Amino acid sequence: MPSNKLSPPRRRGPRHLKRLDSRLRGKDDIIPLHVPEIGGRAWEYVKECLDTGWVSSVGSFVTRFETEFAAFVGASGAVGVVNGTSALHAALLAVGVQPGDEVLVSDLTFIAPVNAIRYCGAFPVFIDADARSWQMDAAKVERFFRERCEKRGDALINKKSGRRVRAIVPVHILGFACDIERIVLAAAQSGVKVVEDAAEALGVRVNGKHVGMFGDAAAFSFNGNKIMTTGGGGMVIARDPAVLAKVRYLTTQAKDDELEYVHNHVGYNYRLTNLQAALGVAQLEQMPSFIERKAVIGKRYLTELTAAGLQTLEPFAGVSPTYWLNTFLLPRGTSIDQRKRFIRSLIERRIGARPLWHTIHDLPVSDGFEAYEIENSLDIYRRSVSLPSSAALTDRDFQTVVDTVRSLLS
Ligand SMILES: *Cc1c(COP(=O)(O)O)cnc(C)c1O
Repeated sequence: MPSNKLSPPRRRGPRHLKRLDSRLRGKDDIIPLHVPEIGGRAWEYVKECLDTGWVSSVGSFVTRFETEFAAFVGASGAVGVVNGTSALHAALLAVGVQPGDEVLVSDLTFIAPVNAIRYCGAFPVFIDADARSWQMDAAKVERFFRERCEKRGDALINKKSGRRVRAIVPVHILGFACDIERIVLAAAQSGVKVVEDAAEALGVRVNGKHVGMFGDAAAFSFNGNKIMTTGGGGMVIARDPAVLAKVRYLTTQAKDDELEYVHNHVGYNYRLTNLQAALGVAQLEQMPSFIERKAVIGKRYLTELTAAGLQTLEPFAGVSPTYWLNTFLLPRGTSIDQRKRFIRSLIERRIGARPLWHTIHDLPVSDGFEAYEIENSLDIYRRSVSLPSSAALTDRDFQTVVDTVRSLLS
């Protein structure tokens, strides 16, 4: 039953949930930016692992989590892995990214996908954010393919670097989605593989279809700050079952014989444990309620803070968001130092606030990599403030955040 009240979750056993309740929190505790809500059957399932001894990388919960996750997003199968970053690494390898290739990636993102590209020995090319949606700019992707690249046989070659553009990683940020249909079309016309980074977008749909189901492969994360968690964990899906089989092979040490220790390729130990999967199955059961409550919080922030003069991202038509992390921009003309002071003031008032990730193209770690027409991502990063967005955020804490933001603005 949808409700407009931000009521706290029913507390079913787990004692630490009480931390989330402002009435029980100590005076010095902060309203957290995003914390997990461990409830439902989590204790029961994890206890089953402990009681039976099935705690490691083999066990019924691993298979069950993969199957139920695949059903949740509408995929024909899924492979569980240790975290979202390894999910991206394995997906990139499985679609054929090789050392010396180039991979287009969002400039405005958490750094994980960029690191995954570099684990493959490939070169990232940074693509600007779109000014309204803050997601990878699809028009610039099209223009990059058209003006900066040329086809040689099957390969798309970057004319300046001479390297092959093998793949693109559109990152769906903040519980919203890229203009993914347009990006996938441009990539298909250019012979470029698409690996969707859906780490922040579990539960997000575009025209009814779950994100991650548009590209050749996709990665999800169950880190503690994501909409659902397994402590740490990730998942890969792929359109082609052969690609998914390759992910399974690479993430389980590339075993070439059921019994004998025969290996023809370098593999990785990226397996998810049964303990993590047990938590995952329980969290997945709670996803509908997480999505529902986060939508209530997201819509209320939108109403309250746009009325206070702040700006936020505008989703494309057809996107059903999860409002993973509610983020607003301070007014145009706000300097980065003013934004830093604003966030420090929120933290001093015990409100967990952060800026968006530093743009990646101008970090020391990105020295020497190509950045294509970067304008908007810098402006968004410089003025951004992310606010407490846990599904368990109480009415009272929500009001404290809004009142504090308002008073700091005036
Ligand atoms: C969290 C995140 C990841 C990586 O997930 P981990 O599980 O922490 O490795 C990847 N991409 C984005 C955009 C993320 O926010």
